[in-house]
Amino acid sequence: MVSAFALTDVLVVGGGPSGLALASELARRGLGVRVVAPHAPQPFAPTYGAWLDELPAWAQACTAQVWTDVRAYTGSQPTPLLRPYALLDNTRLLDTLLERAGERLCWTQGKVTGAQQRGNLWQVHGEAGEEWTARLVVDASGHGGLLLPTPFEGGPALQTAYGVVAHFQRPPSPPGAMVWMDYRTPHLDPADVRAEPTFLYSMHLGGDRYFVQETSLIARPAPSREFMKARLYARLDALGTPPHDTESDEWVAFPMNAPAPIPGPVLAYGAAAGLVHPISGFQVAGALADAPRVAEAIAAALENGQDAAAAGWDALWPPERRAARGVHLLDLGALLELPGDRLGQFFAAFFRLPAAEWHAFLAPHTGVREMARSMLKVFAHAPNAVRLPLVRAALAHPGVSLSALKAAARMKAASASSHPALAAARHPEGMTKSDDASSVTGQREANSGDIDQQEVIEEGMQGAVGNVNAAGLAPGVDREEKLEELRENMAEVTGQK
Ligand SMILES: Cc1cc2nc3c(=O)[nH]c(=O)nc-3n(C[C@H](O)[C@H](O)[C@H](O)COP(=O)(O)OP(=O)(O)OC[C@H]3O[C@@H](n4cnc5c(N)ncnc54)[C@H](O)[C@@H]3O)c2cc1C
Repeated sequence: MVSAFALTDVLVVGGGPSGLALASELARRGLGVRVVAPHAPQPFAPTYGAWLDELPAWAQACTAQVWTDVRAYTGSQPTPLLRPYALLDNTRLLDTLLERAGERLCWTQGKVTGAQQRGNLWQVHGEAGEEWTARLVVDASGHGGLLLPTPFEGGPALQTAYGVVAHFQRPPSPPGAMVWMDYRTPHLDPADVRAEPTFLYSMHLGGDRYFVQETSLIARPAPSREFMKARLYARLDALGTPPHDTESDEWVAFPMNAPAPIPGPVLAYGAAAGLVHPISGFQVAGALADAPRVAEAIAAALENGQDAAAAGWDALWPPERRAARGVHLLDLGALLELPGDRLGQFFAAFFRLPAAEWHAFLAPHTGVREMARSMLKVFAHAPNAVRLPLVRAALAHPGVSLSALKAAARMKAASASSHPALAAARHPEGMTKSDDASSVTGQREANSGDIDQQEVIEEGMQGAVGNVNAAGLAPGVDREEKLEELRENMAEVTGQK
């Protein structure tokens, strides 16, 4: 057991699933770890869901329930997603993480207010005047970050949801099934759907118990709790399935548009490190899965007297992941611009991608080229009513979209040397003049308008047809015809003939 006053190797700010996952993997590698959180160890409060295949093997034993009948409704008929989905058992997850960590993890109740680096050590300050010393500090304090605040461009764009666990006389969703997304809203005025699109996320928990949650995928400004609650009850009333005996309710609100963080001397992890997926809002499975790799990098660096924060950042946000975040933010920007009543059609096109591709698009570590191609295939599948706003949105966000599309078009293979700006940004305090110059050059390159949109579209379309992934386009679709259609759409929105 680490004594309350001893120097610890790593101090982790936050006792959520991410901080604890990393702390546990560090402790398993023989490091002394202090977790500081305002509360004693307690089961995580939110209802956490995850694709079963994204959970590490040990965490698959920490599930409360797993559904194989997983569906999406983007129109009147269900789309079977054919991918098992899990509800996590938060008590078992907490106990397992603590058990896996063993005696080298020390939990300290307190609220961190700041941290200072003195030589090779960190002094971390608590609200009640405490001081803790550690060789490395990890900010795992949740969305927005404490020691490394997240700069949300244009302000945070939130996912919000209101849900209840309740008993129902009639099933509000198919018994035995998990409904990942149900965009059907015949009970609402189309103008209201257009302005504030929401969908139902629902789990049958057994017997007459269901978890039903009305969800706004992403919005800025976000709908209020009262609004979302009213939407949920309006849906249940329209279905003729009002709940009785409500056991609990839950309000969800967190930002989806975190950029890839600029590495600094404090490492961040989990939501504080921008790890929330910008399209799905998922984070937990990725944090559990990434923890061993990041812990390994930190342990090796501490052992060899190297910069442990830099090693952790490299393991967590390699160049390929940073580039992929650009594509995800492009897509997020497009979804924010899309009229709400088109979201169902967007996801209909999305789920027409081959399963491996939509799985990859929602996964934490998919490469930028693969993702950009999938996105362009969604453009190709979608009706014009969806496609045009998406293209317009892409062009309306040059800072994000051009760098993302440029990366998609040009990036041949990820390597650290191809990202001079990132390498320079990692240690701003130690930046030399030449570092500085390479940073400026890298930035200018990323933001230049020097990109051929047409080339990007063709590049993406090649991924959609003419190879083993050809299932990305419906059988019989003429590639040239589709390409010509896309060219016309581009001409329409850019004004170029
Ligand atoms: C209601 C809800 C439902 C969600 N559902 C899902 C889901 O189904 N699947 C999914 O993958 N993601 C989901 N998310 C998104 C995201 O994965 C979660 O928010 C997740 O909890 C983030 O984990 P974390 O450990 O990074 O941060 P958090 O869980 O927020 O934990 C942060 C920790 O830091 C502590 N802390 C904060 N400030 C300080 C301080 N000053 N000093 C010390 N400690 C501090 C907190 O007390 C807490 O222990 C959901 C989010 C919410 C809000």
